Amino acid sequence: MHRRDKKWARRVWEILNRSISLDQGQFVVDYAKDPFKILLSIILSQNTSEKNSIAAFKRLKEEIGTSPEILANVPLEKLEETIRISGLYKQKAKTIKRLAEEVLHGLDINELLTHDIKHIRQTLLSIEGIGKKTVDVLLAIYGKRIMGIDTHAKRIAIRWGIAKSSNYDEIQRAYVELFDFVDNYDRLHKLIIILGKKFCTSRKPKCDICPINTLCPKLNIE
Ligand code: SF4
Repeated sequence: MHRRDKKWARRVWEILNRSISLDQGQFVVDYAKDPFKILLSIILSQNTSEKNSIAAFKRLKEEIGTSPEILANVPLEKLEETIRISGLYKQKAKTIKRLAEEVLHGLDINELLTHDIKHIRQTLLSIEGIGKKTVDVLLAIYGKRIMGIDTHAKRIAIRWGIAKSSNYDEIQRAYVELFDFVDNYDRLHKLIIILGKKFCTSRKPKCDICPINTLCPKLNIE
């Protein structure tokens, strides 16, 4: 059995980088340019496919707009209808409105991002509907040493044996500590998402063609 130490993690990192290309436009966050819009895009991506969240975000931009002023004032029903394709649209519309209102009332997300991780998390998590993954994905994009944990990252952590449960914090700690040589946790997360979509699928993982199959503890290959 492979030991999941730093040496192992470095080899995984090298292979993931070599075998997976992260093309611009693959992720909904690629369509957003500032932290407020990036948060919007991540909210839209909760519990849905990248394709649907991209479609919802594009429609939001075209039909309503993405400024805090517009979003705080647009009728809730119109916002719900516009982002419907992203699923959970009623919940997401309320969260977007709450975030927009916070910004209008003085929350400066650019300034907030200059603070430490704990403070940023506390502030954004106090907005109902914004969860840990949403905040952590934003933080990783802005260069913080933290990684968002989605369904792919959870499943792969369990298969790699780097975490024993699907507890969010445990899995996050495992990735951040094991891959502590990585200077871009956003990139690590995206590589893991693509690995999960293309190879390490929830049902019938394609281990025979997976780029890291010789390193994968699940296969118990040495
Ligand atoms: S070898 Fe199989 S279990 Fe391991 S990461 Fe690849 S697809 Fe997942």
